[in-house]
Amino acid sequence: SDLYRVDGWGAPYFTVNSSGDISVLPHGTDTLPHQEIDLLKVVKKASDPINAGGLGLQLPLVVRFPDVLKNRLESLQSAFDYAVQSEGYEAHYQGVYPVKCNQDRFVVEDIVKFGSGFRFGLEAGSKPELLLAMSSLCKGSSEGLLVCNGFKDAEYISLALVARKLQLNTVIVLEQEEEVDLVIDISHRMAVRPVIGLRAKLRTKHSGHFGSTSGEKGKFGLTTTQILRVVRKLEESGMLDCLQLLHFHIGSQIPSTALLADGVGEAAQVYSELVRLGAGMKFIDIGGGLGIDYDGTKSSDSDVSVGYGLQDYASTVVQAVRFVCDRKNVKHPVICSESGRAIVSHHSVLIFEAVSSTTTRSQELSSVGLQSFVEKLNDDARADYRNLSAAAIRGEYDTCMLYADQLKQRCVEQFKDGNLDIEQLAAVDAVCDFVSKAIGAFDPVRTYHVNLSVFTSIPDFWAIDQLFPIVPIHKLDERPSARGILSDLTCDSDGKIDKFIGGESSLPLHELGSGNGAPYYLGMFLGGAYEEALGGLHNLFGGPSVLRVSQSDSPHSFAVTYAVPGPSCADVLRAMQHEPELMFETLKHRAEEFMHKEEEKEEDKEVAFASLASSLNQSFHNMPYLAPHSSC
Ligand code: PLP
Repeated sequence: SDLYRVDGWGAPYFTVNSSGDISVLPHGTDTLPHQEIDLLKVVKKASDPINAGGLGLQLPLVVRFPDVLKNRLESLQSAFDYAVQSEGYEAHYQGVYPVKCNQDRFVVEDIVKFGSGFRFGLEAGSKPELLLAMSSLCKGSSEGLLVCNGFKDAEYISLALVARKLQLNTVIVLEQEEEVDLVIDISHRMAVRPVIGLRAKLRTKHSGHFGSTSGEKGKFGLTTTQILRVVRKLEESGMLDCLQLLHFHIGSQIPSTALLADGVGEAAQVYSELVRLGAGMKFIDIGGGLGIDYDGTKSSDSDVSVGYGLQDYASTVVQAVRFVCDRKNVKHPVICSESGRAIVSHHSVLIFEAVSSTTTRSQELSSVGLQSFVEKLNDDARADYRNLSAAAIRGEYDTCMLYADQLKQRCVEQFKDGNLDIEQLAAVDAVCDFVSKAIGAFDPVRTYHVNLSVFTSIPDFWAIDQLFPIVPIHKLDERPSARGILSDLTCDSDGKIDKFIGGESSLPLHELGSGNGAPYYLGMFLGGAYEEALGGLHNLFGGPSVLRVSQSDSPHSFAVTYAVPGPSCADVLRAMQHEPELMFETLKHRAEEFMHKEEEKEEDKEVAFASLASSLNQSFHNMPYLAPHSSC
């Protein structure tokens, strides 16, 4: 299992069990005996046909584990509770979940439910997110915050004020200076006393990929001058007491606690200044940025890892706020964080199948007519061939590679000039592969075709080179005999995964088809944040099927509490304004016209219609097809 570093990135939720499968520990290692769910059994339950006791779902599959979500939330809260207690901090921590990380209804509702015992709230960054957060929080703790971030127009602000009227603990966080005028104006008209926050543009800069939002030139937040102008405006309107929260966000995946302490310390100074200026300050909201360790290296030097754990993070934040507030004699604020990645990443696993594999392996040398091959080469190429053979006999690796390259190039040129036939061109590959293999340089990386769209399911890999752990979910007790890159089913050369954690350009993989052609399943882990929300419809590939799996009573059994197939062809076509019903009618008429002309058999026509119907709209599925000339 250490080929895939499961113990590093997977702890405490994923491990390799004695059958060589990945097991999910839904409660981490918090329960004794550890509860374990074998992921392969879950996939079988999901994908086996209905008549064989399965759910008949197609892969790819997103499997969600709400128990993992609960554990993440509780672990974050406990880390802050411990830090508050051990630092003698005189206020509490209450977090919010930024719904943009995964807006799935069940994810959001679960977080509200699991967090209601400790005032956990939600953060929204747009009007639809605000609406979903408002309705979800109706079932949560009345003290849970509803933090309204993002660019705001009058409609957004009115909605946020309605939320306040509904007794939701709403804070409108000013991201642009103009928003303060709208808030003052609309709250007067609606006769609501708002609670206002402001987002400060800190000078502290996070230099990693996710830090482009930070620093003086960052996209979001108010500069020092703007903060002072906002304070003045609120004071003039008699609303300075409404300003109660200071927010900042220096970027996701903050690599080290040193940078975190720097940012939080600077924000605590701004907070203290706002207190001095007379604002009704109560909360410091440190944004997101709590990172996770995608490659299991616990390193602060990479975008895919972080050099700290939950407890280090919480303690650093609490210490940094306390230090500044104590020096300035300011009452300790309630600490809020907007951790998204750290809460939802672990709880969902994307499962997909490798359906075929190819190598660039050329024909066997024995099938090449060497004599005639050499004869047809031009003089230069023939010299390369002789040099290559001589270097191979002497075992000179580098020289061999040099002549092999040169020979190939010359043959391609000869082919382009029309002086070499295609069989000769294939033969040169066979000769070069044979020699490379003979001197031990032959390690062909295969291409494994996986039933997945990188653009839909792992968009950050394509967009920002973000790496995720990808691992076969079974056979981990067998040594993989090949290495491969993964190529998706889209018709796009970017639709491949050829970089893996640990800086590898291929993944150790097993032979396909061993074990009587049994399927070979791979899992992409730690992708519960951002990936589902960002994924697009490139090539009109719909999203995966989704399954929710909870622990049932005994330590090794599980229950599927929700299962939904991925979007049909008709669903994705509709997303691009096509009308599947009309498309079906058009194609049906065409079939009637042409299949009639060809004098097809009636049952062939039925098969064609049924296949169009089932692809274009699920609702045609159960509709008995009536052949146009049949009587009924
Ligand atoms: N809050 C704000 C304002 C953000 O922009 C983000 C994401 O970048 C988050 C919270 C969530 O950050 P993370 O996923 O690093 O916890």
